[in-house]
Amino acid sequence: MKQIIRSDLLITGAGVAGLTAALVSLQLGASVTIVEKQQGFATSGNRVFILSDYTRRILEALGIWDDLQGKDYPITTIRIYDGLGTAIKDHGFGWMQSLSFSHDRSQSEKVGYIVREHVLMEALIARISSYSSITILFDCAVETYELTQKGCLARLDSGKSLSAGLVLGCDGKNSHTAAKMNIKRTQKARNQHAFVFTVSHAMQNRRAAYQTFFKGGQLAVLPLSVSKSSIMWSVPTAEMLRLKALSKQDFMAACAPHLKRHLGDCALAGEIASFPLNTSMASAFVAERLALVGDAAHTFHPITGQGVNYTFRDIAELIPVIRQGLTNQWETTDLAAALDIYNARRTRDARLMSATTDMLLFVFSLRGFTMTCFRRLGFVVMHSLPLLRYLLVRLASGSHMKSHSLEPDAPLLALKDK
Ligand SMILES: Cc1cc2nc3c(=O)[nH]c(=O)nc-3n(C[C@H](O)[C@H](O)[C@H](O)COP(=O)(O)OP(=O)(O)OC[C@H]3O[C@@H](n4cnc5c(N)ncnc54)[C@H](O)[C@@H]3O)c2cc1C
Repeated sequence: MKQIIRSDLLITGAGVAGLTAALVSLQLGASVTIVEKQQGFATSGNRVFILSDYTRRILEALGIWDDLQGKDYPITTIRIYDGLGTAIKDHGFGWMQSLSFSHDRSQSEKVGYIVREHVLMEALIARISSYSSITILFDCAVETYELTQKGCLARLDSGKSLSAGLVLGCDGKNSHTAAKMNIKRTQKARNQHAFVFTVSHAMQNRRAAYQTFFKGGQLAVLPLSVSKSSIMWSVPTAEMLRLKALSKQDFMAACAPHLKRHLGDCALAGEIASFPLNTSMASAFVAERLALVGDAAHTFHPITGQGVNYTFRDIAELIPVIRQGLTNQWETTDLAAALDIYNARRTRDARLMSATTDMLLFVFSLRGFTMTCFRRLGFVVMHSLPLLRYLLVRLASGSHMKSHSLEPDAPLLALKDK
């Protein structure tokens, strides 16, 4: 008879979501098995995240924040530029083109922390490696799930069998775990791709991230230091194919007009990666003995830079579910009730973010003189309402979560108590 590997949690996928969920579970005293279809951890990516204040607090509770010190780049301002409708600029209203978001007038308080994906991954890997109650199986995937009275039995394509009280689907935007548990997904093809690359630049960065909207795309500048920035350049798919065929030199020449305003002359530092920008949302974030986490639950357009932050919000809400399971030895009824709460809270939050992103993309897709005037009018109104901008920054950074309710902090305290 084949041996069954037993653990409290089975996690599919070893990206940021899977590794963080594993660390939280280990800290709560659970045993964990991770199944990852790649042959090793993906630590060579060049993606960069703006971590919110709430994410920082979660990482602090997990003991990871100290490991990132000196490797992060705090920013105090996010500046949005409307690069559409230059006719208005030509008529002397160029000042209406941009909008700044910061916590205070002096722009001294941090609105986010820029961290490279591989730096965060390496910190998480180092932490989980110190636990003996974790098993990581690479180069395999779950073929079938079978619900039993005591848990979930998973059979892998490698022939191994695993049993767990709870499965966490952390296998990204094309989640097989969700599909195998019959959870449907709403997909939106955006017909856009993003190029991600790093540049060194002549102009010094003063702790500001920039987002420029232009015809058919966006350009985000995420500073890594005073003279180095990560660039995310989103373009229509047809344009992506044209740009991909260019030499690196010609590619940089094509991007230069967008970069010049914020960074001056730029030189490419490293490789250029590209990603399709399809967005999707699972119809439910839970099923019996399953919770979806991160991109497996919700894949946002990166324009708002919230993908990872919402992954961390998922994980904070998972803490009561895991504690419940451990306390009641994964008894079905109590676990189902805890999963329902997770589902209600996380779907509401994620749908709101998805709608906000859609609205932003729609507003910046409108062209023509009249539409540009309306958008600029919106900028002027926002300019004159610093309180509204302040509230929006607090909402995006998750700072509001400590003031309006103590609840989201309670799970974090559970970790700190350990
Ligand atoms: C161009 C771009 C820029 C972005 N910029 C930002 C940003 O600035 N800020 C931000 O917050 N977010 C950003 N995001 C989003 C962010 O990258 C994601 O939200 C985040 O990486 C999701 O992590 P994850 O662990 O859920 O998924 P992933 O990173 O996709 O990890 C999934 C893991 O599951 C594995 N896997 C897949 N299928 C299986 C299977 N069947 N069995 C086992 N394992 C499997 C994969 O190999 C992978 O290791 C960006 C995304 C893109 C595309």
